[in-house]
Amino acid sequence: MAGIKISNMEECAGCLLCMMACSFSNTGSFGLADAKIQVDRIYKQNRYRVTVSDDCLECGRCVEYCHFGILSEGEE
Ligand code: SF4
Ligand code: SF4
Repeated sequence: MAGIKISNMEECAGCLLCMMACSFSNTGSFGLADAKIQVDRIYKQNRYRVTVSDDCLECGRCVEYCHFGILSEGEE
């Protein structure tokens, strides 16, 4: 299915812009809890795990705001 593709996850900066963009796009306000994409810091490491929820709307807004090339639109 079409969706948000995650690649080079080790390059994720943990900036959370994707989460902020997602929540604002979908609710009109900034709220990490409302994001359909999740960025979690891996325990005791400066690396992050990025996951997209099943209820992602595939709007592509998070892709626009990821400046590290982690997110793209395409086949999962
Ligand atoms: S594609 Fe849209 S709904 Fe899905 S995670 Fe990205 S911003 Fe959120
Ligand atoms: S996936 Fe991109 S926008 Fe989201 S936290 Fe990582 S670097 Fe930032």
